[in-house]
Amino acid sequence: MTFDTFLMVDWSGGNDRGAIPKKDAIWVCVARDGVVEEPLYMRNRQVAEAWISDILTTERAAGRRVLAGFDFAFGYPAGFGRVLTGSEDPFAIWDWFAARVEDAPDRNNRFALAGAINAMFPGIGPFWGNGLQRDIPDLPRKGRARHDHGMPERRTAEQQAKGAFAVWQLSGAGAVGSQVIMGLPVLARLRERFATDLAVWPFEPLDRSIAIVEIWPSVIAKAVSQTQPENAIKDAHQVKLLAQVLSGLPPDGLQHLLDVPIQPEGTILGMGHEEMLTSIALGHSPPSLRNDCFAMPQGAYWTPVDTALAHLKAHLHPVTDSEDLSLGATAGRFLAQDATAVRSHPPAPNAAVDGYGFAGPAPAGINQFKLVEGRAAAGAPFQGKVPAGHAIRILTGANLPTAVDTVVLQEDVSADAGVVRFHGPLKQGANARAAGEDMQAGQVILSAGRKITPADLGTLAAAGVGRVTVREQLRVGILSTGDELREAGDVAGDGDIFDANRPMLCALVNGWGYNVIDLGRAPDDRTTLRHILDNAASRCDVIIASGGASAGDEDHMSALLDGTGSFALWRIAMKPGRPLVLGLWQGKPVFGLPGNPVAAMVCALIFVRPALGVMAGGDWQEPPTYLVPAAFHKSKKEGRHEYLRARITDGAARIFRSEGSGRVSGLSWATGLIALGHAAQTIAPGDPVPFLPFNGLQQ
Ligand code: AMP
Ligand code: MG
Repeated sequence: MTFDTFLMVDWSGGNDRGAIPKKDAIWVCVARDGVVEEPLYMRNRQVAEAWISDILTTERAAGRRVLAGFDFAFGYPAGFGRVLTGSEDPFAIWDWFAARVEDAPDRNNRFALAGAINAMFPGIGPFWGNGLQRDIPDLPRKGRARHDHGMPERRTAEQQAKGAFAVWQLSGAGAVGSQVIMGLPVLARLRERFATDLAVWPFEPLDRSIAIVEIWPSVIAKAVSQTQPENAIKDAHQVKLLAQVLSGLPPDGLQHLLDVPIQPEGTILGMGHEEMLTSIALGHSPPSLRNDCFAMPQGAYWTPVDTALAHLKAHLHPVTDSEDLSLGATAGRFLAQDATAVRSHPPAPNAAVDGYGFAGPAPAGINQFKLVEGRAAAGAPFQGKVPAGHAIRILTGANLPTAVDTVVLQEDVSADAGVVRFHGPLKQGANARAAGEDMQAGQVILSAGRKITPADLGTLAAAGVGRVTVREQLRVGILSTGDELREAGDVAGDGDIFDANRPMLCALVNGWGYNVIDLGRAPDDRTTLRHILDNAASRCDVIIASGGASAGDEDHMSALLDGTGSFALWRIAMKPGRPLVLGLWQGKPVFGLPGNPVAAMVCALIFVRPALGVMAGGDWQEPPTYLVPAAFHKSKKEGRHEYLRARITDGAARIFRSEGSGRVSGLSWATGLIALGHAAQTIAPGDPVPFLPFNGLQQ
């Protein structure tokens, strides 16, 4: 479920607040396609209802899905509806109020209505609070005057929500009861107007183009108070912050908030996730990955490579914060926001060559211009006038003086005694660059998710961008596991193996531009491994481990992750490769690669590379692939991908002499991988095969 437009409404139960924006009035904020607009002030409910109805109509007509949040309870504590309407249907309460609430900018009947409702209940209450001078029959002024009305004081939602007011309280600072009575009729009318295009959460499944949800800005209270600009109106600030946070959530993050049971009391969006939403609002950290992000759909025993990749693409999202850096420090980082040109490039029309400038065009035949005194050079513009029939000496990059729009190349000109001559024709605008012809001020020049290249630094600098918002560098921990492992160069017995994976993976991850954290080697011992992972989780964003990633007795990585509730064993239909294990350790993703170095390398290039790219804030990175003629014979079975170590010589791909995955030296012999797809295939010399060069995969 994705939404294009987020509309957050801070409602009010009171009278018209006047023309000048004030607090305790209705404030709305729209976020559309990731752009959060300035909050709007609505002086009364009539204005707000018309405006909301309009925007919903416009968005629906444009085929855009809207999530509209209103900050008042959509229901009452269980049992209220049955007494009021004789039904359990929450919409019966909405319609009941819609039929009876009288609302005008300067007067409404909410207190009288609450008194009349109280009269339907035994004892005194449940409504209380009276903002009027005169007494209302059956409506006590004090909450403690109530008794024996039989209603629970709070909805389940308010029992959880720290500091939430009960819906029975109609007056006093912060009371929400009046907003509910004065809001439900508006929602009831929207429901009627948008009928089958509108669904209300959590009463109905949200399978329509408009979703109406209950919000409560206090779920991000800490962020609201910490980020509120001085003199800003809190109501305005909090709808804006909420719009920003909700619209910025990845689709599955928002879905997670919306996944609550259908309940007639209604509930508050984001309840139970206050900490996460607050930290996002404070910009402290992006949302963490969900526990089920690696859960493969059940079904096939062997998962095709493409399915596994599609799963990663769909379930991962950036995990790093953003920071503002000066341009020069951003090479290799991922843009966290679109970068826009601060200034047009070029900022003013200028000369593309060294020559003479004049007012074009120049007709066919001999053209002759008198030269004015002085010249125009880059950084030293000509300040005088260039009269008709005159030309000016001009150098590359110089701004065109007023009235000059065309430049003739100096090599095409004969100049003497203050006169220049050349053969026409020359089109108007020749050898000149128009202002903004390359980039326009305000234009998006590079999009969020892009890895900044050296060329990008040139582009950004030319457009006057001095500081860039980028993702912090991803911190990637690298760990080898296995009792048999020794450090290369150390004394080793016959049963020992030198740790080949760690130096290889460290260099790979470093080449991708991330911050490598060498976690060393772990023995095949669960307690030690647990300590290492605990420590790694506190200082890494992602952990890459190799070895112990199967289901055997010594596969401790699997065993530990299995206890986290996030564990997944991916049996990927590929060669080389064995199961990949994935999971979250204290919220940090762990990739458990096969121990075999060839398999570890191929899995890292094919799966870990794009996964880290997304988590680091980048776009999904497809492996660079070129079709090259094969210089080998091969017949391949159906049902798995095969990656062959290959090298290009004389324009054709040869493969390593052995496909044995124990031969790590083949990785060094090769310059890339031949990737053969799922289907059965017979390859003869000359057949085109997809080649993935290492130099493309190592960046
Ligand atoms: P495992 O996945 O732990 O069962 O390991 C599979 C094979 O890869 C075994 O032969 C291990 O000795 C070997 N192996 C595991 N880790 C490494 C490593 N870091 N470097 C070289 N070989 C390894
Ligand atoms: Mg092992």
